[in-house]
Amino acid sequence: MVRRVAVVGAGVSGLAAIKCCLDEGLEPTCFERSEDIGGLWCYTDQPEEGRASIYRTVFTNSCKEMMCYSDFPFPDDHPNYMHNAKLQQYICKYAEHFDLLRRIQFKTLVTKIKKRPDFSVTGQWEVVTQRDGKEETAVFDAVMICSGHHVYPNLPLADFPGIQKFKGCYFHSREYKEPEKFRGKKVLVIGLGNSGSDIAVELSTVASQVYLSSRSGSWVLSRVWDNGYPWDMVILTRFRNWLGNILPKALSDWLFVRNMNRFFKHENFGLMPLNRTSRREPVFNDDLPGRITCGAVVMKPNVKEFRETSVLFQDGTVQDDVDVVVFATGYSYSHPFLKDDSILISRDNEVILYKCIVPLHLEKPTMAVIGLVQSLGPAIPTVDMQCRWAVKVFQGSPCFPLLSLPQRFGDSTTLQTDYIMYADELASDIGVKPNVLKLLLTDPRLALEVFFGPCTPYQYRLMGPGKWSGARKAILTQWDRTLR
Ligand code: FAD
Repeated sequence: MVRRVAVVGAGVSGLAAIKCCLDEGLEPTCFERSEDIGGLWCYTDQPEEGRASIYRTVFTNSCKEMMCYSDFPFPDDHPNYMHNAKLQQYICKYAEHFDLLRRIQFKTLVTKIKKRPDFSVTGQWEVVTQRDGKEETAVFDAVMICSGHHVYPNLPLADFPGIQKFKGCYFHSREYKEPEKFRGKKVLVIGLGNSGSDIAVELSTVASQVYLSSRSGSWVLSRVWDNGYPWDMVILTRFRNWLGNILPKALSDWLFVRNMNRFFKHENFGLMPLNRTSRREPVFNDDLPGRITCGAVVMKPNVKEFRETSVLFQDGTVQDDVDVVVFATGYSYSHPFLKDDSILISRDNEVILYKCIVPLHLEKPTMAVIGLVQSLGPAIPTVDMQCRWAVKVFQGSPCFPLLSLPQRFGDSTTLQTDYIMYADELASDIGVKPNVLKLLLTDPRLALEVFFGPCTPYQYRLMGPGKWSGARKAILTQWDRTLR
C-alpha cells in the first residue's frame, strides 16, 4: 500500500502533486532546493543553480482561464495573459488555499533516489536529501519527480565552428535577465523558440541591430486571436479537435497551415517552418512581425561559421562587428539525483515513460515524472491531470497495464502530445472525462459550452473522483471573466 510519497520540487508540478496526494489520503513530503515555491515562476535577478531561470519580462502565453489549476480559477481582476510576478501571486494563493506549505521542506536538495533492495516486492525508494550540509535518508512508498525541465541549458557549441575564435561575448538565454546592458550593441540571437523571439524583440528596443537566426523556422502566433479573444480559448476546443480527427489529413493540414498564417504570411518574413504541417509548439509573440517589418530584427538562416568579429550564415551572407551572441537553444533533460540512468532513459537515449509519466520498465509503478511532457497547451492543467492519474496508479488503479507501449508523438527531444487528446486519455483512465452526451441530456447549456467552448481545466472536475462543485459555474462564466 502506498502511503508516504516524496515529491521533488515545489514548482507548479510539485504543488499539484502535494494537493493530489492529500486529496487521496496519502502523506506527501515535498523537498524544494530553494527557499520559495513557484519554481520557474519565482523570478530572481541571478540564475540559481539547479533551478529554472526566466528574464524579467516573461509573460504567459497561455491565458488565465486555460492555465489555472482545475479547481482554482484565477481571481477576476487578473489579465488574460500575465506577467510572471502575477502568476507567482496566484501560485502562492493556491498553496495557501489548500494548505500545502506545511508539506514542503525548503532549502532541501534531493541528491539521490534509488530503489530499496526489496523494490520488486515493496516498490519502495530510498531518498537522500541535503540541508545545511547535513545528509538524511528516508524511505518512501512512491516518488513524484517534479524538478522541471527548463534547468540544464542545451549549448551545442560543437555545432558552431569557430566559436572559440569569436571575440565578442556569448551565453545561453538562461543567463539573460534584461536588455539595458546591451544598449548600442549588435546582437545575434540563435534559436526561434519562445525565449529566442522574446529576447530578440526586447533587445531590439536598445541594441543597434538584432539578428535572429533560425535553422528551421517556426509558426509565430499572436496571443490575440479572432475578435481579440485569447488564442487558446478559440483554438483549444473539443469541436476543433473532433473536426481535426475526422477530416482527411490533406484537408486538415491545409486548414492548419491557413490558420497558422492568419496573423501574417510566414514566407514573407523568413519564418516559414521547414516542416509546415508538423504540430510542433508554436512561438507566441505579438511584436516579432512588427520588429521585422521595421528592420529592428533581421531574420537569418543557420550560422555556418563564427569568425573573430563576424558571423557567416548558411546563405553566404556575413554580418560584421557582432558584439554579443545569445544561444536560445533550449534545454536538456537531467535528473542528477537518479544515479541509475536506466530508470528513465532507454538504450537509445530516449526517455521512455508510460503515458509520459511512469518509467516503463519498473517492477512496480511507484515513480511518476511530472511535467516532462510538452502538451502543446497549458502546463498547469496538464501537470494537475498527470498528478491525479499518477496518484491513482500508486493506489493500484487498473489504468496501468504494464505491457503497453509509451505514448510518443513526433520526433522532438521533448515528449510532445496534443493537449486535449492527452488530458482526455488520462481523464478517461481515472473516470473524470466529461461525458458530453450525458450532459446534453441533463444540462444542454453546459454540454454545448463543454463541446464548442474552450477546453478549460474545470471540465475535468465536473464528474467522477475529485468532482468540484464550482466547476459548472466556472465553465459558464469563463467568458465573463475573460472580458473583464
Ligand atoms: P519548475 O517550475 O522548473 O520547478 C521545479 C522545482 O524543482 C524548482 O523549484 C526547483 O528548485 C526544484 N528542484 C529541482 N531539482 C531539485 C532537487 N534535486 N531537489 C529539490 N528541489 C529541486 N507554460 C505554460 O503553460 N504557459 C506559459 O505561458 C509558459 N511560459 C513559459 C515561459 C518560459 C520562459 C519557460 C522557460 C517556460 C514556460 N512554460 C509555460 C513552461 C513551464 O515549464 C511550466 O509552466 C511550469 O512552470 C513547469 O513547472 P514545474 O513545476 O514542472 O518545473
